[in-house]
Amino acid sequence: MSAFVARSGHCYFYNIVIFIDLNDRYFMVFLLYFYGKRIVILKQAGIKKNKKAVVIGAGIIGLATALRLAQSGFDVSVIEQKSNPGTGSSKANAGQLLYDRISAMGSPGFLRSLPKTILNPDQGVIVNQLLKPNYWPWAASFIGQCTTKAWQENTQNLLMIAKLSRREMAKFNKQYEIDFNWRKPGKLIIYPDAKALNAAALSAKFQQQFGGEHQVFSKEQCIEYEPALRESSQKIFGAIYLPDAEVGDCHKFCQNLAQILIDSFGVEIKYNTKVEAIEHNNDQVRALRTDHGIINGDLFIVATGSDAPTLLAKNFPEKQPAIGIKGISVTYPLGETPPNLSVTDAAGKFVILRLHDQVRVAGYAIFSDNLDINPTHVQRLEQKARQLMPKAANYDASPEIWTGLRPQTPNDCPMIGRAGYQNLYVNAGHGSMGWMLAFGSAQILLDKITETNTEA
Ligand SMILES: Cc1cc2nc3c(=O)[nH]c(=O)nc-3n(C[C@H](O)[C@H](O)[C@H](O)COP(=O)(O)OP(=O)(O)OC[C@H]3O[C@@H](n4cnc5c(N)ncnc54)[C@H](O)[C@@H]3O)c2cc1C
Repeated sequence: MSAFVARSGHCYFYNIVIFIDLNDRYFMVFLLYFYGKRIVILKQAGIKKNKKAVVIGAGIIGLATALRLAQSGFDVSVIEQKSNPGTGSSKANAGQLLYDRISAMGSPGFLRSLPKTILNPDQGVIVNQLLKPNYWPWAASFIGQCTTKAWQENTQNLLMIAKLSRREMAKFNKQYEIDFNWRKPGKLIIYPDAKALNAAALSAKFQQQFGGEHQVFSKEQCIEYEPALRESSQKIFGAIYLPDAEVGDCHKFCQNLAQILIDSFGVEIKYNTKVEAIEHNNDQVRALRTDHGIINGDLFIVATGSDAPTLLAKNFPEKQPAIGIKGISVTYPLGETPPNLSVTDAAGKFVILRLHDQVRVAGYAIFSDNLDINPTHVQRLEQKARQLMPKAANYDASPEIWTGLRPQTPNDCPMIGRAGYQNLYVNAGHGSMGWMLAFGSAQILLDKITETNTEA
């Protein structure tokens, strides 16, 4: 609590206003004096003070969180170690917004196919790191999530967040009309044989209970809808077609969102500032220690993607672990027949799509704690894309190569909520779906902070 006094008036008549800063409110007490005698306490008013929220991380999750907090009246600042927004995992991801088709990674089918997937390096799933003991708790927990019941629960949870995300994102886009190369082209998920397609159709049926349309396509229908597949030398049996699938450039969106936060909400974004530790007393976080000094606030949100466990581990070793799963994207200029639809090759485990005047190919799931790029992986991704859509991109041009870590929890669901201390929260661990879950996760976190409940 603190107080200060303001006095005005002249010798025989004056008034005093006392401001008292008490927890989350300012109280003002007006005293009117006449010839030195206090005659009345005119008013005692409580004015709600804006709480200061500090968000760590200016990726899509941190920025969406900052927006929702600022829209709800918090005084927000964002701390980012890099010099720009959206330069971590949010930079050159595959850009897919598949709100209706989210599915948790761990399932009985996934577990059954794992040995085959691991033994065939061409599948792009590289798990050598799992042999290291520090990965074992995550691996054990992940295996526990590979039951039908857990898959259904996790998928249902993700679909609920995605539904909320779609709604909140649509509201935002309607209001701000920012350009992020958004399109709603629909999507094909291509399968090489009847068995794989039938299994995919079954899980699509489960997901359809929660909204969204899908159709099962023959090879001919695939080519009719996506002419870039006409000259494919890849084995295509059929596909699941998702007419509502959207695409958008996450990095471009982050840049625009950061500007809106600054211009329309007065949010301060401190770039080139790394949070080194979370300082606390008893059950409260006091401040953040950064490489540029101490940052105070009333509440703190860790939105540092795959770095969240590192930042939280010092204080909260009991938190559910999340690990980084490295992915690669390669972005080319358009070719003669660029794809219209977003297309996933389920057998080759990669996605190819057009983002404005570029074609992006993304794939690989490498359990890793670094961002090194293996040139062989880039070449293999390109070969697969050429095989599937030979004329989609100008594959001979020098591409933009990018790698990022998917912040992956064992159950594939993000960690959203309080993190050990009264005023410390986490919004991280969005795996391969952070772009599409961002606005829903931000809403859920806000609900937890303000103890409200927004229906999906
Ligand atoms: C190849 C690939 C393809 C993908 N495709 C899709 C897709 O199609 N659709 C989809 O929805 N998702 C996709 N994803 C997943 C998505 O990109 C991520 O889930 C999402 O970007 C995570 O966002 P984030 O804000 O949590 O993390 P980030 O974007 O990594 O942001 C975290 C930020 O925190 C900062 N930070 C970390 N530590 C500190 C610290 N100590 N102090 C200050 N700042 C700190 C980092 O610099 C970073 O900017 C893909 C991911 C990959 C790798």
